Amino acid sequence: MMQIDAIPLELKYRIKYPDEFIQALKKGEILATKCKNCGAVYFPPQRDCTNCGKSDMEWIKLDNEGEIMTYSIVVQKPQGFEDKGNYVIGIVKTKDNNFLMAWIIGEPKVGAKVRLTTDGYRLIGEVIG
Ligand SMILES: [Zn+2]
Repeated sequence: MMQIDAIPLELKYRIKYPDEFIQALKKGEILATKCKNCGAVYFPPQRDCTNCGKSDMEWIKLDNEGEIMTYSIVVQKPQGFEDKGNYVIGIVKTKDNNFLMAWIIGEPKVGAKVRLTTDGYRLIGEVIG
């Protein structure tokens, strides 16, 4: 039997988020959904709670300051990002204790303070100290 080691696949995903989430991002506001039953918070937003299985969610606005908990310098870029230079993705713990993944701008360091902003579609953590 002939074996094939690798088959290149090109996949495209269209990720649809609610308009209010996108409109808030464009204004620099970070919205998440919070389960009214168990309090679990989701960013990006989810309609259903994977913690308790309920679908009773509400919008909440997240704090836009926090600190870098960990980060990674992305050298081997995924499909669609090949033309970008190396970039940094970090996990930011907000002042209201949520953990968000953001593109880090500035010198990344664990414990560095960041201000979270957006460019309309990405969450960006600007290092401020
Ligand atoms: Zn829940």
